[in-house]
Amino acid sequence: MLARRHQRLQPRFVDRQLLGAGGQLRALVGDRSLESGGARQVARRLWQAPVRSFAEITELPAAIRDALEQSFELPSLTITAQQLSADGTRKFLFRLADGEAIETVSIPDADRLTLCISSQAGCALKCAFCATGKMGFTRNLQAYEIAGQVRELALLDPPLKPTNIVFMGMGEPLMNWRSVDPALTILNDPAGLGIGARHITVSTVGILPGIVALSERPEQFRLAISVHAPTDELRHGLMPINTKYPLAEVIEAAKSFDRRVTFEYVMLGDVNDRPEDAAELARLAHECKAFVNLIPLHPGGAGDFTPTTADAIRRFAASLRRSGVSVAIRKSRGKDIAAACGQLRVERHGRRRPVAAQHDGGIEVA
Ligand code: SAH
Repeated sequence: MLARRHQRLQPRFVDRQLLGAGGQLRALVGDRSLESGGARQVARRLWQAPVRSFAEITELPAAIRDALEQSFELPSLTITAQQLSADGTRKFLFRLADGEAIETVSIPDADRLTLCISSQAGCALKCAFCATGKMGFTRNLQAYEIAGQVRELALLDPPLKPTNIVFMGMGEPLMNWRSVDPALTILNDPAGLGIGARHITVSTVGILPGIVALSERPEQFRLAISVHAPTDELRHGLMPINTKYPLAEVIEAAKSFDRRVTFEYVMLGDVNDRPEDAAELARLAHECKAFVNLIPLHPGGAGDFTPTTADAIRRFAASLRRSGVSVAIRKSRGKDIAAACGQLRVERHGRRRPVAAQHDGGIEVA
């Protein structure tokens, strides 16, 4: 029979009922003699060619549309602010149903459009140089709030249709695996958004159980690790998480990850940009066959760091290259609108008080 009135359209619903076999929607549409492709049709209208309401799925018989409307609520995220950078990067502020706010960044580059999405409201990790860490952690996002960032931008006129997704917005995706796992399915599955797994990158500070969980997924999702320091001593001071997951263990996990790994390395003047740092980083990158992405320090983070000069970054990169490491210097996009790496931060106004890191629900690897 019909599902409960206005049940929220949760990711589990999308994941299991729309993408998997059997279940509520199938029962629902089956009851109304919709052909078996109906569930896929609905999935397509949620994600790939999205509509704002079931009523707009005009390819379905009216009775089915009505039944869907009555049975399920389509949650939405509200865009409350938008900023456009001189380089074409756009930053969106989303308000969630409970008043929380998150940011999403769209980065056009030739024929690519990368969306940088958030996985948590705020972040518990307090990396010394990062603005998001400064605002504290409020809560994990639900899967529909993660994939929903992509859906909402596809609903714009003209729509923003990403070719690539990076989990490099607010939060630590591998501390919210319970939601990131189904969100990856929605992003990648042909019946969902259909974005190739090689074009979806999960970035982490090195949450080990999460890296294992990601590696157990059969799809070729990419892994990026925020390394930022080549020794424990240095990393301890920059990234408190290093106490829980020390560098050596993160490197071991990266080595056993059988797909491409990228190291992210933010360039901090006179802190981690010395010749001996380059030598040690090269050794680690070699061990993991990792690609190294050097990130110029963006302003706005905590702490009192000085960016490494552009010349010094080039010298650091050249030294890595001489050691046989593949390296790129990341272009800083959207810096003028505080949309670059580590700059995402929502003002406290109207937000819940952040909870302490130890109350963040721990590592959610379900
Ligand atoms: N928590 C995950 C996902 C965030 S990705 C992670 O840390 O990997 C955001 C990237 O930007 C991370 O590599 C982060 O360390 C980096 N970053 C943070 N603050 C920065 C800053 N001020 N300048 C440049 N990069 C920064």
